[in-house]
Amino acid sequence: MGIMISLKCTKNEKHNETFLIGRGKGFPKIYQQVINSIIKGKYGEEIKQFLKENPKGAINCEYKIAQCKKCNHLERVYELSMYIPRKNYNPDKAIKRYINGYDLKTKYKKIKEYQHICPKCKCEMDIVKIKYDEYEDIVGTKKKVKCLQCDGFMKISYRGRWD
Ligand SMILES: [Zn+2]
Ligand SMILES: [Zn+2]
Repeated sequence: MGIMISLKCTKNEKHNETFLIGRGKGFPKIYQQVINSIIKGKYGEEIKQFLKENPKGAINCEYKIAQCKKCNHLERVYELSMYIPRKNYNPDKAIKRYINGYDLKTKYKKIKEYQHICPKCKCEMDIVKIKYDEYEDIVGTKKKVKCLQCDGFMKISYRGRWD
């Protein structure tokens, strides 16, 4: 199941956004769709080449939020970091044909992060890295999220689950 989060400006609570992140029930299908789009070149040459050179490679296809470094635009994206299997793991023996965040954490090694580009101004975006406590409750973000509409910062909170 994925989680629903909201981001609210600390200076003006009318400045707020809600996102569904993580992965839902449809994830196995989404994983294949994203991989197919990568192979077709939708996400650029580098990641396409990565899958060609690493047929056992995996991609993080879970939803995350990215923020533009320049205009602060927030966008839900597929994370798209590139991974290869750890030495003691052979993905050919896996039963399922998709790879989720838990698999990536336990069986794969991250090789490269994907550079997301802002759809509004074409500048680079950063993934908003959310920190969780041991109960998987949100405790904040690694870097402050700037408000889109003023010079305030966004406070992030957990709203519920989705699937
Ligand atoms: Zn931008
Ligand atoms: Zn604001």
